[in-house]
Amino acid sequence: MGYSLENTVGKTWDCVVIGGGIAGLTAANFIAQSGKSVLLLEKSNKYGGRAITEEKKGALLNLGPHALYSKGNSLEILTELGIDLKGASPSLHGDVFYQSKSYDAPISPLKLLKSRLFNWSEKKELIRFVTGYQKIDTAELQNTTLNEWLQLSFKAEQVRMFIRTLARLATYCHDPEYMSAGAAIRQLQLGKAVYLHDGWQMIIESLKERARSLGVEMVSGYSVQRVNGKFPQLEVVIKEKESVFAKTVLSTASPSDTASILAEHEQSLDVNFLNAMLPVRVACMDVVLKNLPKPKNTFALSMDQPLYFSVHSNTAKLSHHNQYAVIHVMKYLACDNLQDEIRDRDELEQLMSRMQPGWEKLVVYKRYLPRLIASNSLVYANKNGVYGRPDPVSPIPGFFIAGDWVGSVGMLVDCTFASAKQAATRIIKICI
Ligand SMILES: Cc1cc2nc3c(=O)[nH]c(=O)nc-3n(C[C@H](O)[C@H](O)[C@H](O)COP(=O)(O)OP(=O)(O)OC[C@H]3O[C@@H](n4cnc5c(N)ncnc54)[C@H](O)[C@@H]3O)c2cc1C
Repeated sequence: MGYSLENTVGKTWDCVVIGGGIAGLTAANFIAQSGKSVLLLEKSNKYGGRAITEEKKGALLNLGPHALYSKGNSLEILTELGIDLKGASPSLHGDVFYQSKSYDAPISPLKLLKSRLFNWSEKKELIRFVTGYQKIDTAELQNTTLNEWLQLSFKAEQVRMFIRTLARLATYCHDPEYMSAGAAIRQLQLGKAVYLHDGWQMIIESLKERARSLGVEMVSGYSVQRVNGKFPQLEVVIKEKESVFAKTVLSTASPSDTASILAEHEQSLDVNFLNAMLPVRVACMDVVLKNLPKPKNTFALSMDQPLYFSVHSNTAKLSHHNQYAVIHVMKYLACDNLQDEIRDRDELEQLMSRMQPGWEKLVVYKRYLPRLIASNSLVYANKNGVYGRPDPVSPIPGFFIAGDWVGSVGMLVDCTFASAKQAATRIIKICI
């Protein structure tokens, strides 16, 4: 660990940040740059949380497929912090699978007009959607489920299914009967995906380096068990009898972990609300191949099965070996269909065989991650969409939260960045 809590005896930090993923590191940067003292505690031995990138046999693997959106606020906040990351947008060329047939993805008006996937009246409905979706007022649709909105807006089931597929791609969520239409459409409005060269670890390394230069103390291998008290004297209990003290605490742990950290405060916080949040899960297979048997087959989505395939190394620099291909295959999981991990893996392998026949003989590295949490909370229409998520300022004085389940801005990592900045702004104000 290389750090002793003895260094902090008698000290009251302006803020203790729990978690060294994107939320924790972003908030630590904002708080420290305003001159406040920050101690960041990460329970794992590595920083990065779900944004880590691991090197396997010379290839760089994110934890499943990761993309930023060109118009999302992640890039805006990174730029504000002076962090400039390199990446590229994948080509829009690819396949759409439907009823065991393969179609050219209708990604341009011309391809849509030529597509065999839709008949003429379906094409007319889709053109109406494609030309108008950027202007949809998503605030008004927060309480409507995606399925309700599709039912009201489009006559053809084929069109609804296609838009559902696009929404799943942008949100990772395969629960259109619960998900807020407003939140899903907002994700679709965020522009092009951007795959980062050298993986998302570049975000982490840049945030870490900047935080260190601002004087943030960072410690890994320290798991916070409990937070007691309130502003301006909160006690952060790390192990039995070991504590640090702070005016404020920011938790970026999951809703259920945050609830257990706050056991003392059960009465002031709606712990049931936190524990009732349903995470959005995915099953991922990350594969490195010596080369691609079918170099042109780089992207596919299935319309009638919740499946995704993308060769990320075709766009981003992810390997020291020129020929190596880094592929992410993924199944989006509905919240009530999490039982069969083996069936899910078989489906991912079948998709690999369909896109890259003979791939098994070219495997350099492969891993199956059956139940990753893509987002800590589904954005429910019946809980007022993004407006129903908890505020970064908790009811406990001096205790704040951030992550992809907090605040009313965006989804996934955009929500993470936005809530981290909001929490930091409030912490800076209270610590004067
Ligand atoms: C497969 C997959 C694909 C994804 N793809 C995308 C994408 O394409 N686009 C996008 O925008 N987002 C994507 N995401 C989501 C994105 O990765 C997350 O939103 C983001 O990384 C969350 O950051 P965070 O800091 O809020 O949470 P986390 O990364 O979960 O970090 C929380 C940290 O807190 C630590 N911690 C927890 N409890 C304690 C404790 N008690 N004490 C100390 N430390 C603690 C954890 O170890 C962890 O490091 C994807 C996620 C997954 C899993």
